[in-house]
Amino acid sequence: MGEAKEVKCGREHPYAAELVARERLSKAGSEKDVYRLTFDIGDLDYTCGDALAIYPKNDEGEVESILDMLKFQRDLKVEIHGVSYPIRDALIKKFCITHLPKRFLDAFAQKLTNWSRDIFTKVFCGDNEDQYSLAELLARFPHIEIGCDELCKLLKKIPPRLYSMASSKNAQKDKLHLIVGAVSYQNFLGNTRQGVASYYLTSRMRVGDCADVYIATSSFRLPLDASADIIMVGPGTGLASFMGFLYEREYLKNAGHLVGRSWLFFGDQHRASDFLEEDELLRLQRTGALDSLDLAFSRDQEHKIYVQDRMFEKREELWKWLSKGANFYICGDAKRMAGDVENMLKRIAGEVGKIKPEEIGGWLNDLRIANRYQKDVY
Ligand SMILES: Cc1cc2nc3c(=O)[nH]c(=O)nc-3n(C[C@H](O)[C@H](O)[C@H](O)COP(=O)(O)OP(=O)(O)OC[C@H]3O[C@@H](n4cnc5c(N)ncnc54)[C@H](O)[C@@H]3O)c2cc1C
Repeated sequence: MGEAKEVKCGREHPYAAELVARERLSKAGSEKDVYRLTFDIGDLDYTCGDALAIYPKNDEGEVESILDMLKFQRDLKVEIHGVSYPIRDALIKKFCITHLPKRFLDAFAQKLTNWSRDIFTKVFCGDNEDQYSLAELLARFPHIEIGCDELCKLLKKIPPRLYSMASSKNAQKDKLHLIVGAVSYQNFLGNTRQGVASYYLTSRMRVGDCADVYIATSSFRLPLDASADIIMVGPGTGLASFMGFLYEREYLKNAGHLVGRSWLFFGDQHRASDFLEEDELLRLQRTGALDSLDLAFSRDQEHKIYVQDRMFEKREELWKWLSKGANFYICGDAKRMAGDVENMLKRIAGEVGKIKPEEIGGWLNDLRIANRYQKDVY
């Protein structure tokens, strides 16, 4: 028998994970574009709550237009950490071309005449600094001259993006799931921009292609004691980690372990189009791996209803679970949702748990220290 092959994997040595399936989870009529991606990760190990770090590839069409505008030959070579790459490959895989660092903007400004430097500083600096790509800038200042080596010295390296594991290594073995929403927005130039990694994953990658990945370990964890109850609040793609948690607990239950109750609050815009992983969640509910499922579809009625409103409706029950030692988890949007949910948790502690206002902060902190209050928000 041959020796087991060592799998080198980390930030410097990513693993080439094959995309084996991609299924759209948001349905017709949705304003969002959300997919479940399944990767073959071979022997890579992870724990529920970890994230997959992915090095995205830039859009090839955008790279071609940069090469044209700069009049670079495709096979010009550049050296990165002692390895030589054709400039086209380097711009696709190695450099960030969608956000330009300050050192690039300073050097760029020096190349402009006084008049165009004025426009550049007024329009492309300050608040707009992070809002346009290299291709957009070159199109606006077409006479600029930058050498290949100079360009590569000024650009920053493409950073990996993190995606929460939506599967359990015990249950799904070498097939890892992610739930990814395609990010798109309009920048100040009026151009529609697409998120580099989310579009790479949801549309540019083909099934059978490989992505460079590594496991980003996290402290977001199921309770060490599987018999503890868990309450999970994860609207939108925040559901991802909780799919992993539920699969893991279903696996443990089937293996004969004593497993506590699981309660999920999920929400999005419309039930008909945005109920992500509906079939799987209903199956997990039928098999008893998910004891309670509360849904908040904000735009299915005149008044918006969010996950925190469902928590308030179930406040008595929620407080009972917490009093019996349940862990409380939040995953997903950091901008508004996480704060709204935390505020609701405090309100319930005050109104139902009769904790004095001045003691609520301390109560939540104790919960946090005991690892019973965990957040994975972005
Ligand atoms: C721990 C962790 C777990 C995560 N898990 C998931 C997950 O399970 N699923 C998931 O889909 N994502 C997840 N994310 C988010 C993910 O990592 C990426 O940030 C996301 O996919 C966007 O990356 P991108 O490369 O597509 O966008 P980028 O190319 O990086 O573009 C994002 C940029 O666009 C700007 N931007 C975005 N929207 C607008 C707007 N409306 N107006 C102006 N500018 C805007 C932002 O400022 C940002 O600079 C997670 C993040 C973390 C940190």
